[in-house]
Amino acid sequence: MAIQWDDSIALSSTQRAVRSEVRDLCAEFDAAYWREKDREGEYPYDFVETLAEAGWLGTLVPEEYGGKGYGTEETVVLMNEIARSGAGFSGAQTVHAAIYNSAPLVRYASEEMKEDLLPRVANGEAWIQCFSLTEPETGSDSTAMTTEAVREGEEYVINGEKLWTSRLDVSDYLVLAARTTPKNDVGKKTRGVSLFLVDIAAGIEDGSIEYEEIEKTVSGVVHSFRVTYDDLRLPSKNLIGEEDRGFYHVLDGLNEERLVIAAECIGLGELAIEKGVSYANDREVFGRSIGQNQAIQHPLAAAFARVQAAKQLTYDAATRTDDDRKDVGARANMAKYLAAEAAYEAADAAVQTHGGRGVAREYDVERYFREARLTRLVPITQELVLNYIGENVLELPRSY
Ligand SMILES: Cc1cc2nc3c(=O)[nH]c(=O)nc-3n(C[C@H](O)[C@H](O)[C@H](O)COP(=O)(O)OP(=O)(O)OC[C@H]3O[C@@H](n4cnc5c(N)ncnc54)[C@H](O)[C@@H]3O)c2cc1C
Repeated sequence: MAIQWDDSIALSSTQRAVRSEVRDLCAEFDAAYWREKDREGEYPYDFVETLAEAGWLGTLVPEEYGGKGYGTEETVVLMNEIARSGAGFSGAQTVHAAIYNSAPLVRYASEEMKEDLLPRVANGEAWIQCFSLTEPETGSDSTAMTTEAVREGEEYVINGEKLWTSRLDVSDYLVLAARTTPKNDVGKKTRGVSLFLVDIAAGIEDGSIEYEEIEKTVSGVVHSFRVTYDDLRLPSKNLIGEEDRGFYHVLDGLNEERLVIAAECIGLGELAIEKGVSYANDREVFGRSIGQNQAIQHPLAAAFARVQAAKQLTYDAATRTDDDRKDVGARANMAKYLAAEAAYEAADAAVQTHGGRGVAREYDVERYFREARLTRLVPITQELVLNYIGENVLELPRSY
């Protein structure tokens, strides 16, 4: 039995149109498709190409550059729907960065870069699937990064190491964050970082980009890498926005992106509950449906309530991104926190409902569980989200 709870939130006509179009596209890729891709560790090219051909990689690209010109309200629907379709959080992550990397480009790139790149992003030709930020030594303390970009004439020379740069293997370009001014020479550690557009194939070809895949146990459809930048030379025109202001360029769209991540977690939670309820109705033990047992019903019901609560907050916040930045930040961080916890609870309930089959690949819920666990770690850990809420919303002393 599928749960029809679609209209618990009043959607605009544009949001409805997005949902309907994406639902149709995703219907071509069923549970067996995602199961197989996850098991084989394969990037779902045909899924991504289907979305790219329909222009969805250009969701945030303004219409004047050939994109859809949508904002957060439509993107939460898009990504919620992709995750819920059976793709899960990982399936959504196969296109997430390709959509979101255009945000700093739209806001801050030179007109020359925008004219060259954005129409190609919008028509699905140029894939900017990676954002290379996290480093092995500094992790969540991302502004402590040591990857440096040194200006030499009309070039920047980049050296450093990044960890977890995802989708490098399927991307044409990446957005790289590197220090243009050492941390000790800036008043605030958020200063002195710059963003660069990198042509991946060129860097690999001349040996200035080397990478090694990280073996992991979740999200087989997205590959993540340790990347070494060794004297990577970039023309100065590849700088995105202002030198030393790159971290602010990222922060600028971060709350909106966090809401979209929350929407992906919610889609995963909805998917897990649908599977759990369906199995609870079908499976009979002791001569009756297991769904008749409150021990089975209650965890699913509680998770459903929590997923719905997170959804209300996320969708409401998506309509209010023009409010004061502190308010938007508070809502976005709370939404990500609650959505990841709700997805985890939903996936856990779905596994338990399936009994031993909960760990059998063919029932999918074990994959949802692995993915739900991941949502509590990425793109920011739950602890760091709570730090944000503690400091910026509750006005408690900064704890780190
Ligand atoms: C599958 C996957 C894909 C990823 N893709 C990308 C990508 O494409 N690009 C990219 O740049 N990065 C990517 N990341 C990196 C991801 O953003 C980081 O893993 C995440 O931000 C956490 O950093 P860390 O792993 O270094 O953990 P650490 O920062 O080492 O933290 C370890 C633990 O300590 C806790 N902790 C640390 N400091 C504090 C504190 N002050 N208060 C409370 N708790 C604290 C953390 O919450 C965490 O539980 C990816 C990660 C994964 C797993």
